[in-house]
Amino acid sequence: MKALVYNGPCDVSVVDKPNPRIEKPTDALVRITTTNICGSDLHMYEGRTDMQAGRILGHENLGEVIEVGNAVDRVKVGDRVCLPFNIGCGFCANCERGLTGYCLTCNPGNAGAAYGFAGMGPYEGGQAEYLRVPYADFNALVLPPGSEEKENDYVMLSDIFPTGYHATELAGVLPGETVVIYGAGPVGLMAAYSAMIKGASKVMVVDSHKDRLALAEKIGAIGIHDLEGSGVAQVLELTKGNGADRGCECVGYQCCNNAEHEVPNLTMNNLVKTVKATGGIGVVGVFIPKDPGAQDELAKKGHLAFNFGEFWFKGQSIRTGQANVKAYNRQLCNLIEAGKANPSFLISHELPLSQAPEGYKNFDARKDGWTKVVLKPGA
Ligand code: NAD
Ligand code: ZN
Repeated sequence: MKALVYNGPCDVSVVDKPNPRIEKPTDALVRITTTNICGSDLHMYEGRTDMQAGRILGHENLGEVIEVGNAVDRVKVGDRVCLPFNIGCGFCANCERGLTGYCLTCNPGNAGAAYGFAGMGPYEGGQAEYLRVPYADFNALVLPPGSEEKENDYVMLSDIFPTGYHATELAGVLPGETVVIYGAGPVGLMAAYSAMIKGASKVMVVDSHKDRLALAEKIGAIGIHDLEGSGVAQVLELTKGNGADRGCECVGYQCCNNAEHEVPNLTMNNLVKTVKATGGIGVVGVFIPKDPGAQDELAKKGHLAFNFGEFWFKGQSIRTGQANVKAYNRQLCNLIEAGKANPSFLISHELPLSQAPEGYKNFDARKDGWTKVVLKPGA
């Protein structure tokens, strides 16, 4: 089959790989029809992880079930399924509490399992024609009839819609509250969208990319350009000097092309400044534990210069971590089915798998107009 593999820093290509096969009776095989490029892929793409060359990327996957193992009886051949990026077993101490992002069976002792990820188990990614899905009865979300027409909406259930929602849950967003979100990438936009769904009274999104801020405004949030005057000052002005009730970190550790953004801890300290005293902060941006290539000595070891003193003095709380996708995807799926959520609004490019390297290059550069790339392996 054709698959997108990681070769080395900023080098991916579409090559021939052996088709996956059923390895355990609980597996299913899925023919991938839509698979996205995610900001999380960029940690590997840019060479900040120990991703091995030759591995297939892709954890935002949707497709049709073509074969199931002997022990699979809920999911059927022909079902169209969206696959949470986390792989859970369903029966470990974390999965049974809904914490499927931290499955103790699929990646023992580590921070959960996922498709096509460094450090999250041996599972291959879905930026390919076919994918093996472990514990398919537990993991696969079977989509409602007619899902083909809204495939670009439903595919967002694999990761960024639940992740954006998770950010608002971690922050504790309640109806009527004010929310500030750092990052207007796909995850930040989904956090803003989720805050709207929850009935926030004012949602402010901080970034420096005008095209992305325009999308935030399109869904009713206030776009704040943090290089045209201080983002912090603008948020404080909009919140009568007190700061927002809740804040979400949707940037994480990253090197974009903007030199002023290459301070990995900036967003965390800005959140402490722009969330009110006693407010809640939800952090879904990924902070890579170690970046040997970082310019900053502390960042090399994964240490960030977080202003703990101000955080403590303001009595704020922070919750962090990857989204437990299964905890939210059914409800968010119902909203899409009912026509009450259309997360595909953020898609800028739909490409055949063969053009995935071009998609990576432009999305990684945060090139104007490249907000979210969906790949169609069948095209
Ligand atoms: P992205 O890189 O496209 O978006 C990040 C945005 O942040 C960009 O628009 C960038 O301009 C902006 N930015 C950079 N520095 C900033 C700063 N100092 N202040 C404000 N904005 C700044 O990626 P994405 O797909 O939106 O993903 C965002 C983060 O979420 C990544 O770290 C990704 O790994 C993470 N993520 C986490 C989960 C989870 O389960 N927790 C799931 C998916 C993605
Ligand atoms: Zn993702």
